[in-house]
Amino acid sequence: MNYDRYYTCDVVNGEGLRVTLFVTGCTHACPGCYNESIWNRRSGKPFTDEVRQRLLEECRDHDGLSLSGGDPLLPANRPAIAELCRLFKQQYPDKDIWLWTGYLFEEVRHLEMLRDVDVLIDGRYLQDQPTTQPWRGSDNQRLIRLASHR
Ligand code: SF4
Repeated sequence: MNYDRYYTCDVVNGEGLRVTLFVTGCTHACPGCYNESIWNRRSGKPFTDEVRQRLLEECRDHDGLSLSGGDPLLPANRPAIAELCRLFKQQYPDKDIWLWTGYLFEEVRHLEMLRDVDVLIDGRYLQDQPTTQPWRGSDNQRLIRLASHR
C-alpha cells in the first residue's frame, strides 16, 4: 500500500483530535473528486513498517485515527489497513477508528477487518447531492457507527 500524506493534528476528519492518513488508490472515479491525483495506487510513498510505527506513536496523545484517501478499502489496500487497525486497537483499545470508503456498507460489511473500525462513512461522492451533514462529502453518504451492527 502507498500513502499520500498524514496529518497529526486534525480536527476536521472525525470527532476530537485525530491523526488522519490518506492512502493512495481508488477506482470509484467520482466526478468532482478533490483527490483525483491519488487515484493511482502506485502514486505516493510506500507505507512501510517504519511509517506505520511512526503513525501509531503519533496517535498516543490523540482521540483516534482516521483513514481516508483514495480508498482505504480498495482491495489492494485492505491487508495493510487491516494490520494497521489491528495494531492500533491493540495499543489503544479506548481510542476509535473512523474510515471513509467509496464502497457501500452492504458491499464491505463482511470484511473481518471492520471489527476494528468504529465509524464508517460510506458511498461514492455525488457532487449533485451537496450536504450540510458533518463528516460527509455528499448527502448520499452515511455515517455508520459499526458497534450497532455487530
Ligand atoms: S471514493 Fe473518494 S477518493 Fe475515490 S473517487 Fe470518489 S471521492 Fe474520490
